[in-house]
Amino acid sequence: MARGTKIVATIGPASSDLATLKRMLQAGVNVVRLNFSHGKAQDHIDRATLVRQAAAECGREIAIMADLQGPKIRIGKFENSKIEIANGDKFILDADCGMGNQDRVGLDYKALPRDVKPGDVLLLNDGLIVLIVDKIIGNEIHTITKIGGELSNNKGINRQGGGLTAPALTAKDMEDIKTAMSFQADYIAVSFPKNATDMEMARQLSNIAGEAYGHKPMMIAKIERAEAIPLLQEILDSSDGIMVARGDLAVEVGNAAVPALQKRMIKMARASNKLAITATQMMESMIFNAVPTRAEVSDVANAVLDGTDAVMTSAETASGKYPVETVEAMAAICVEAEKFQECKLDADFLNQTFTRIDQSIAYGALFTAYHLRVKAIVALTESGSTALWMSRHNIDIPLFALTPSIATQRKVALYRNVETYTLPHSSDREAVLKSAETILLQNGIVTKGDMIVVTWGEPMGQVGGTNALKIVKVGDH
Ligand code: PEP
Repeated sequence: MARGTKIVATIGPASSDLATLKRMLQAGVNVVRLNFSHGKAQDHIDRATLVRQAAAECGREIAIMADLQGPKIRIGKFENSKIEIANGDKFILDADCGMGNQDRVGLDYKALPRDVKPGDVLLLNDGLIVLIVDKIIGNEIHTITKIGGELSNNKGINRQGGGLTAPALTAKDMEDIKTAMSFQADYIAVSFPKNATDMEMARQLSNIAGEAYGHKPMMIAKIERAEAIPLLQEILDSSDGIMVARGDLAVEVGNAAVPALQKRMIKMARASNKLAITATQMMESMIFNAVPTRAEVSDVANAVLDGTDAVMTSAETASGKYPVETVEAMAAICVEAEKFQECKLDADFLNQTFTRIDQSIAYGALFTAYHLRVKAIVALTESGSTALWMSRHNIDIPLFALTPSIATQRKVALYRNVETYTLPHSSDREAVLKSAETILLQNGIVTKGDMIVVTWGEPMGQVGGTNALKIVKVGDH
C-alpha cells in the first residue's frame, strides 16, 4: 500500500457535488466528516447520500463521521452582523440581550454569567479577541477588551484554562445523533467531552438511535477542553478513539502547549488500542492557495511521525478554493513522511504478557511477518479487531482486513496502515483462504510464490475468536 496514514476530509459547500467528491475520494479521502455545527439535518442526510454514491462509483468503502456541535458557547447576533472593538473598550456579554450592538451582545448559554469571575480571560473567535472579566452584574458580564478586532455573529467563547460547565451533550446533539444514525454514520465525534461519563452517554444514545438500523457507530472523543487532559486515559477507555481538536484546545490550554499534548495523546491512544485523528489548520492556507506552506507540510509530516491514524481537513475542503488539491498534497506528504517512521516491533513486545488469544494471534502475526519478511499480513475478520491491534504497531509490511461486513470495511477506513476488501461469506476454511489469495492476486498486492501471513478464527463466520495463524505461499493451494 502506498499510503498508510488516512485522510479525514470535512465536506461543505465547496465539496458537496458528486464530481468534486469523487475527485476527492480518488485523491485519497478515506473518511468524510459532516460538521453538524453548520447546516440543517436534511443537508447532512443529502451529503451522506452523495458520499455513499461517490464511494460506490469509485468502488471504495468510505467511512462517514458525524461531528456533533456540542456545547460550544457562542455570542449572539449583532444588529449589523459585526462590530469592531478596540483595545481598552468596555464590552458587555449580556445573557438577556436581543440583537447586539457596539456595547453588548447576547449569549446562547444563559448560565455563563454564573460560571465566570472577575479576572477571568475570555477568548472569542478562536482567541483572536481577548476580553478580561471586570465584574458580573446580574446576567451581564462586564469586560475590558485586551485584544480587539472584528467580532461577528455567533463567534465562540472559551475561558483560558477551561472550566466552563455547559453539559457535553445538548438537545441539538441528541437530535443530530438520530439524524446521523438514519444514514448509519460509521463514526460519531463528540465535541467537548469532559470525562468518560460524557462519552458513555453519547455511546448509549447512539446505540439506541442505531438499534432500528442494526448499527453501532464508533465513538471519537474530541479532546478540546483543558479539563479533559488529566482524564485522558478514562476518556480513551470509554471511546474508540480521540481527535486532537487543536482549534479549541489551543484556546483553552494555550497554543504553545498543543504540540507536546498532540504527541502524548497519540502515544496514549495507540498504547490503549484506540484511534487518533489530528485536526485543525493542517493545510489552512490552502483555503485560498493551491499549495501549502512549508510549515503546513511539516505539521502534517510530524503528525504522521507521531503515529496518528489520520490527518484531517476542515475549511480547506469544506469551503476552500482547492478541496481536491488539498487532499492530493496531504496524501503526498503522508507517503514521504511514512518512509521515516521507526519500526521497533521487538521492543514493542518486550516483557509483555497477553491475556487474550485473539490479541496474541494478532501480535504473533506481526512478529512472524516482520522476521520472515512476508509480502502482506491478512486478517480475515468480522469485527476488524485483529486489524486494529495489528495497526497499533509500526511495521513496513501492509496489513489487509478482509471481511464480509460492509460496516467493518467502513470503520477500518480510518485505521492506519490497514486496507480492506470484501471477503465472500463462508464457513469453509479452504474456500475462504483461496478467496483471500485471489483478492490479493487480483488487486496486484501479491504474485504467485509470495509469502503472506493470514489470521482467522475457527469455526469461521463468527464475530471474535481469532485463534489461527498460517504462513501461506501464494499459489500453493
Ligand atoms: C477543533 O476545535 O479543533 C475542532 C476540530 O472542532 P470544530 O472544528 O468542531 O470546532
